[in-house]
Amino acid sequence: FPEVEEGRIQMRNVTLSKLNEDEQKKILLRPVLNSLAMIDKVKPIVERVRKEGDAGLRAMTKQFDKADLSSNVLLPPFAVPTDDELPRDVREAIDVAYANVKTFHVAQAEKEALVVETMPGVTCSRFVRPISRVGIYVPGGTAILPSTAIMLGVPAQVAGCKTIVLATPPRPDGTISPEVLYVAKLAGVTCILKAGGAQAVGAMAYGTKEVPKVDKIFGPGNQWVTAAKMLVQNDTDALVAIDMPAGPSEVLVIADHTSNPIFVASDLLSQAEHGTDSQVVLVGISLTSEHLAAIEEQIDIQAKALPRVKIAREAIKKSLIVLVDTVDEAINFSNEYAPEHLILHLEKAQDAVKDIDNAGSVFVGAFSPESCGDYASGTNHTLPTNGFARQFSGVNTLSFQKHITSQFVTSEGLKVLGPSVVRLAEREGLEAHANAVRVRLAELK
Ligand code: NAD
Repeated sequence: FPEVEEGRIQMRNVTLSKLNEDEQKKILLRPVLNSLAMIDKVKPIVERVRKEGDAGLRAMTKQFDKADLSSNVLLPPFAVPTDDELPRDVREAIDVAYANVKTFHVAQAEKEALVVETMPGVTCSRFVRPISRVGIYVPGGTAILPSTAIMLGVPAQVAGCKTIVLATPPRPDGTISPEVLYVAKLAGVTCILKAGGAQAVGAMAYGTKEVPKVDKIFGPGNQWVTAAKMLVQNDTDALVAIDMPAGPSEVLVIADHTSNPIFVASDLLSQAEHGTDSQVVLVGISLTSEHLAAIEEQIDIQAKALPRVKIAREAIKKSLIVLVDTVDEAINFSNEYAPEHLILHLEKAQDAVKDIDNAGSVFVGAFSPESCGDYASGTNHTLPTNGFARQFSGVNTLSFQKHITSQFVTSEGLKVLGPSVVRLAEREGLEAHANAVRVRLAELK
């Protein structure tokens, strides 16, 4: 990589065509997560919740979050925060986000069963049902994350989940941030679990006297939360699913000669400020050296003006500008990388969307910053990272539901279908299967 000037906040850059196959593969990689070691660390915490129940949970909340609680859960009706606790403009912004996310997720809900007659008298159908009990994890004791509460609470509500447990670490005084409380109220949450980390995940997976056991656990969190989710989903005793494997957040920005350097830099930095492990990639298409220099200058200027400049500096240091010649080359690279967020600063951004095969969410054109999707446009911000956009969708209404199939075979239908079933069952050596059809066909003769 070319040298980076001392003190300057600058991304390294490479020209894709100059890299050999191995080097190209290498720049697609994310940092390795040592999940096995973390799973070993969270095991005793999860075990303690299983063994000691609510008392163990309370003890760990005191140890890790400094909160001395008399009860692990908060039940509705949740107190409406006062204007002092939650200023009116913040409440109105939450209302806008809640409404847009709800509108988009209501539209995703399947309204009617799928009914198909595959043969005369053989009717197959598929219908949707909510996952009955879900747990949503909202990170941070001191951080204020109403957006995560919205992105998980709204689809759970829209899907019709009967029990919604919202887990979040309490503040040291034992309270929950008014922003999260307000969203919990809007989303009709069943109870708030005032616990964080692996112990919160363990409590939701196995249940305690106070905490309802759930069927699926959603939400981002630090490595303790992520490892605990991985641990419990592999325990058949817990019988619990998780939303998706989580890793550090990522953005890939594709920019051509029409891109505005100020906008491009702002998008890269809005990801870089997340954490030092944030993955930030810029793919530049036939950029002149002046254009590239303008983007680099903006990154340096805008980063230095951020309160989280230290975090952004570390993330940018590990980030990469990949220079390519054509839009096709840029999109091929992006499809290989499979980013969580993909931003298109292209002359014909909307035309490019049809060629995107792998991405968590796409932000199309100069006026669609990732921030809109992170907070309030309507799309969900819980998205696959670490290349999992190849096979996972982001959280959506269906993530909180499952499908049941059914069939109705008439006597006439069985006469048509039955012989094929008997033949196949005999071929597999499963006589009882064949017999279940034979006895009926005999009756119908
Ligand atoms: P968190 O809620 O994920 O974790 C806090 C809990 O971690 C504590 O309650 C404690 O139980 C546990 N913990 C911490 N240190 C521990 C230790 N040494 N031993 C045992 N348990 C320990 O909050 P956080 O730590 O602030 O992390 C927030 C995470 O959420 C970050 O990784 C961030 O990237 C992610 N995040 C995601 C989004 C999003 O996608 N919506 C937004 C913001 C942050």
